[in-house]
Formats: sequence, C-alpha cells, structure tokens
Amino acid sequence: MAAIDGLPPLREVIAAHGLAAKKSLGQNFLLDLNLTAKIARAAGDLTGCDVLEVGPGPGGLTRGLLAEGARRVLAVEKDTRCLPALEEIAAAYPGRLEVVNGDALALDAAARLTAPVKVVANLPYNVGTELLIRWMTPQSWPPFWQSLTLMFQREVAERIVARPGSKAYGRLALMVQWRADARIVLSLPPEAFTPPPKISSAVVHVTALPEPRYPADAKILERVVAAGFNQRRKMLRASLRGLAPDIEDRLRAAGIAPTARAEEIPLEGFCALARSLAG
Ligand code: SAM
Repeated sequence: MAAIDGLPPLREVIAAHGLAAKKSLGQNFLLDLNLTAKIARAAGDLTGCDVLEVGPGPGGLTRGLLAEGARRVLAVEKDTRCLPALEEIAAAYPGRLEVVNGDALALDAAARLTAPVKVVANLPYNVGTELLIRWMTPQSWPPFWQSLTLMFQREVAERIVARPGSKAYGRLALMVQWRADARIVLSLPPEAFTPPPKISSAVVHVTALPEPRYPADAKILERVVAAGFNQRRKMLRASLRGLAPDIEDRLRAAGIAPTARAEEIPLEGFCALARSLAG
C-alpha cells in the first residue's frame, strides 16, 4: 500500500483500535489509500474548500481528502470507537480536521462550514439516500454545497443518473437532475471494501446548478412526480387524476400526451406540467 502520509496503514489502525466492522452501522471500510485518494480527486480541486465527510470510520477517505489539499474537513462519525484513530489524523494535519461524534442526520453541518463547501463521503448505505434527498431539497437554492461526491449501491447510483425511458428513471433522477448535473465517476466491486458487501458500488458526482434547469415550484413538482411514479405503469391521465379535475387539458397544455406514462416524460415536461398546475 502506497503511503500518502506519514500515518500507519489502515489495517494497522483497525487492529490497534479494535475497529471490527459493525453491520448495524453500515460499516464497509475502504483500506486502499490509493483508492480513497482517487475518490477525493473525483471531487475536483479541494484546495480552498471546506469538505463535509459523513462516516469517516477509520479515516481512509479522510486522509485522502487532507492529502489532496482540502482546506478543512468536518467529519461526522457516529461510532465512538473510531474517534481515537481520527484524532491521530487530526494531529498529523494540525487545524485542518474537525471530528464531530454524532448522527449526521441530526447535525446542522451547514452552520459549521465556510463556503465553498464540497461533500465527499463513503456513506453508510442505510442513510445515504436520505441524506442525498435532504441535500437536494433545502429551503432555498443554491444549497450550502457546491458538489456532492458520494458512494452508493450501484443500483441507487443508476437511479440518480437515469434518463427517461429507462427502468431506473424516477423520482430520484428527477429530484437530482432538476437542480444539478449528476454522473457516475467510479465503479467499485464488493472486494474493494472490508468486509465486502453483497452488492457493487459506484461513486456519483453531483454538481449544483446556480438555479433549477427549468422553472417550477419545488413542492408542486415533487407532488406531480410522486403521483406519476407511484403508479408508473398507468397512463398519466389516470395516475395524475387526483391533482386536478382537468388534468387531461393541463397535460396537453404542457405538451404531454395524456396517454403517456411517467417514465417516458423528460424533466422539462414535468416542470411544464408543474407550472400549468400552479397557474
Ligand atoms: N469512510 C470510511 C471508509 O471509506 O472506509 C467508512 C465508510 S462506512 C461505509 C460508513 C461509516 O459511516 C461508518 O464508519 C459508520 O460508523 C458511519 N455511520 C453510520 N451511520 C452514521 C450516521 N447516521 N452518522 C454518521 N456516521 C454514520
């Protein structure tokens, strides 16, 4: 394993601090520091940026982020067993790593960060989608972050970047792509992790747009998309019937055939329909 800093290899760190992986915390660690540096680089230039990392664990990705020049890393870790290992990293990078022991879902991270902010994380799978949805749906846009570089199960990553007409296309794709560019930048087999999970993984890079791609009210758009995809095999005139008595006219006004199904409609169409319903 190539050394990217003067700290011990991660296997030694794990042995020294007794960090046997806990399934309940979604712990699948990355021990190859070349790989964690690669994920850090996928976030783009980190110099001059604050980085929010969720779930640093024994600190492989944290070390990658610091070695790649992040101005400051705020790392939120639920498992107290990891704290001594993370303190050793903080000591090697004075003033650049702040570790918060707690649940990322309960922390107001934005209040502790200074712009520009990038979020980079090998997320616990059980909280990954929930955090993504929160980061994509703040009260106002643009959000506190410039980009998100996040590990997901491959299947979830495909849902985030999906295009109309594909099986994976749905609420997640529309929610993310309305206000951001999203692409898969790295694919990882189970063996990249210790212990290996049952599924493959992928890193998704999401860049916030300065404003939504097409105008629409966020709440109305969410309602339309949810109704359309809750019954994705039905024609829109049926699945959206509850939204307005004259839904067929409104669909036509938005340039959508009332007999079309949600999975065929591009983002632009959903936004046009949300505008028509707002009027
Ligand atoms: N980043 C490390 C790596 O790449 O090796 C660890 C990744 S592991 C998939 C997920 C990490 O998130 C674990 O260290 C786990 O303890 C932590 N974690 C789980 N749930 C969390 C939560 N709600 N808030 C903060 N950290 C959490």
